[in-house]
Amino acid sequence: MERQLLIIGSGPAGLTAAIYAARANLNPLLITGYVVGGQISLTYEVENYPGFPETLTGPQLVELMQKQAERFGTEMAFEQVTAVDLNTEPFTIKTDAKEYQARAVIIATGATPRALEVPGEKEFTGKGVSYCATCDGFFFREKDVVVVGGGDSAVEEGLFLTRFANKVRIIHRRDELRADPILQQRAFNNPKIEFIWDTLVRKISGDGTVQAVETENVKNGKAATLATEGVFVYIGHTPNTQLFVDQLKMDEMGYLVTDQRMHTNIPGVFAAGEVSDHIFRQIVTSAGFGCMAAMEAEKYLASLGDRKA
Ligand code: NAP
Repeated sequence: MERQLLIIGSGPAGLTAAIYAARANLNPLLITGYVVGGQISLTYEVENYPGFPETLTGPQLVELMQKQAERFGTEMAFEQVTAVDLNTEPFTIKTDAKEYQARAVIIATGATPRALEVPGEKEFTGKGVSYCATCDGFFFREKDVVVVGGGDSAVEEGLFLTRFANKVRIIHRRDELRADPILQQRAFNNPKIEFIWDTLVRKISGDGTVQAVETENVKNGKAATLATEGVFVYIGHTPNTQLFVDQLKMDEMGYLVTDQRMHTNIPGVFAAGEVSDHIFRQIVTSAGFGCMAAMEAEKYLASLGDRKA
């Protein structure tokens, strides 16, 4: 069956696009991907989304957005998109279960945590190496862990890990953090957190599970081995745009390129959220971009109707 509007991705951009599109009677189909909610479903606490003065968890916010999208008639498909053809209209979207056709598409596939790409990282993923403190922090009760990175995620998740771990060492490649000053202050005041500055992780080693990281000081070249049972990696993200290579315009980092109205280079295909935004990357901005994409999709679909008449 040909759909009017198909939305790929269920993070704040996709779910907000669905709320707006459903309220405009476009009967959107939203293909969720493997994790409903995307990155926020892996976030322990959300403190900066307007309207929620009491902290709520990422999964709680996802559930509320999903309910709101469904209340107005969004249909959810709990499937993963495997291929798209955006060069021929109607657009074709294949999932692990079905094939869909749509007259307009909003891409909100988000971004994935970046890997360190050092020896031992792949081998010990799930055996001490993690990209999600919310998911795995509990397993590190009374243990020593390291966090790699100096942005909001590294510091926020490092703070979260102090609930469980004995000691949290944050290893950062520079001598100042990129993270928000409020988070920095909390981390500096936390007796369980220690910073290791100007340092890169070169190798993760162990025996079945992680036992140590090998590091290098970038200023004096000194190598060191730190005993640790957990390595939490928070060094930024890579946009999930593999499906669109050779079809949609991307920048040098692989993010989808849109104009100010969320239009990609193909009329009828829109992008919203972290798949096309590497600057703001907040829940509220992704939601805003999702709203804009849905409003533009509505206009585009109306213009198709005008052309037919
Ligand atoms: P980010 O801001 O891009 O920070 C990545 C950190 O990893 C930087 O400190 C960077 O170092 C470091 N890094 C990058 N590549 C590295 C490598 N190969 N080896 C070692 N270190 C490396 O990423 P993020 O912390 O995930 O945050 C992403 C976005 O989400 C940001 O816009 C952030 O504001 C937002 N966010 C907001 C909140 C919140 O508001 N509470 C929470 C989480 C995330 P340099 O500093 O030297 O570049």
